[in-house]
Amino acid sequence: MHDPWITLGYLVTAVMFILGIKRLGSPATARQGNQIAAAGMAIAIVVTLIDLRGSDLGSLAALALPAVVIGVIIGGVGARRVQMTGMPQMVALFNGLGAGAAGLISIGDFRHITDAGQSVDVIDAVPILLSCLIGSLSFAGSLVAFAKLQELIPTRPMTYPGQKVVNGGLLALVLAAGIVLTATGHGLILLAAFVAGALLLGMLFVLPIGGADMPVIISLLNSFTGVAAAVTGFVLDNEVLIVSGALVGASGTILTQLMSRAMNRPLSNVLFGAFGSGGGAPAANADAGRQARAATVEDVAVLLAYARRVVIIPGYGLAVARGQHAVKELADELEARGVEVEYAIHPVAGRMPGHMNVLLAEAKVPYPQLKEMDEINPDFPRTDVALVIGANDVVNPSARSDPGSPIYGMPILNADQAQSIVVLKRSMNTGFAGIDNPLFYDPKTVMLFGDAAKTVAALSAEVKRVLAAA
Ligand code: NDP
Repeated sequence: MHDPWITLGYLVTAVMFILGIKRLGSPATARQGNQIAAAGMAIAIVVTLIDLRGSDLGSLAALALPAVVIGVIIGGVGARRVQMTGMPQMVALFNGLGAGAAGLISIGDFRHITDAGQSVDVIDAVPILLSCLIGSLSFAGSLVAFAKLQELIPTRPMTYPGQKVVNGGLLALVLAAGIVLTATGHGLILLAAFVAGALLLGMLFVLPIGGADMPVIISLLNSFTGVAAAVTGFVLDNEVLIVSGALVGASGTILTQLMSRAMNRPLSNVLFGAFGSGGGAPAANADAGRQARAATVEDVAVLLAYARRVVIIPGYGLAVARGQHAVKELADELEARGVEVEYAIHPVAGRMPGHMNVLLAEAKVPYPQLKEMDEINPDFPRTDVALVIGANDVVNPSARSDPGSPIYGMPILNADQAQSIVVLKRSMNTGFAGIDNPLFYDPKTVMLFGDAAKTVAALSAEVKRVLAAA
């Protein structure tokens, strides 16, 4: 049992974590939520050190402090330098390290007991082995996810015949080793094999998943890491680790479900479906007979300058082009002339949840102008111009009308219901789902080809010129 003051300290920490997560729910309060959770973590560290006051604090500090300093420097510099498009891999790396730490603590505990000549009893063995298993799996899986997103290894789904049988067989072997370890309570070599098997399983689990599905997998691995941390909390008898691990586990699971639902794909399809070409190639069924209409910057500037209401639909291509500041400038230009401008945000536009919100917030787009899909969809018919910038799948009407389409049933932004549609992208190539988009051939649609950032900047200048001349 802990000293009541220690327990109270942990309780305060747990409440701060919960408040922090609650505040992360809205962009308006997210910064504060982060600060509250970080302060909670600082309190947790201090309380844990106070709790250890009976032990040899000097040697603990000699070990822990350099690690903390190195970690703070690498984490701080990395977080400051990372580009918005690099955020998913950064999260994967952080997540993997958390999982690895949970696993290492449990391996250390197992060794500690067996080195003292004792066997690990069942009550201790179960959480220790669970933490080793889930921590190792999540560590290796997160590193593969990082490597895919960083394009250190091919991002396409890597599959081979009999993959599921191999993975299932390996899982059975790892579980069998775990049962033997629980029953005997010792065996460092078997523990090493158990951990190696779990690491391999983590790698094999993530390799067949396509690069653009990685955020869903990272969120799932994040929930695994939470569970590993919570179980490690039982190993260490540390309440705050149990609570924070459970919070991470639960929030990761909820986020995974929300993303799968927003793509209308069961999680099993994300995990085992090897879905998505990753985009970038012409569609296999690219339309014979149908012609997309190309427009010039001048044409589109006139259309925008004389519109009453424009809805901007950002997508992955805007993030790649880093065109968010140019978009804000164009919107400012239009608003100064009395055009109503709003942004339509699809829940899975881009390559991670909230991608577009963060991107536009970086360019200081006022938060009330960002409208979620359900809120803005009814307003498309009264929209003069839907300006689709680097988005593709999230405005594909096949999701509503073509039961044969792989994205059939995925909720989309109804850009096709606007009075006119302008699509900014570089070519007729597909998006992540690798399928053709009938919106591009709609008689109301014009295509403006080019890099999103450059095209939007040219549009701003042209709108200014058109309006000055008017
Ligand atoms: P898409 O991947 O469907 O389309 C992006 C488009 O951007 C491409 O067609 C590409 O066309 C264009 N593009 C790329 N670079 C540039 C550039 N520099 N300038 C202009 N255009 C560019 O993106 P969406 O945002 O519409 O859809 C997201 C997809 O990702 C969905 O299928 C979703 O399910 C999936 N996904 C999302 C997750 C999330 O959490 N947000 C998680 C997992 C998957 P071109 O090459 O011709 O320029």
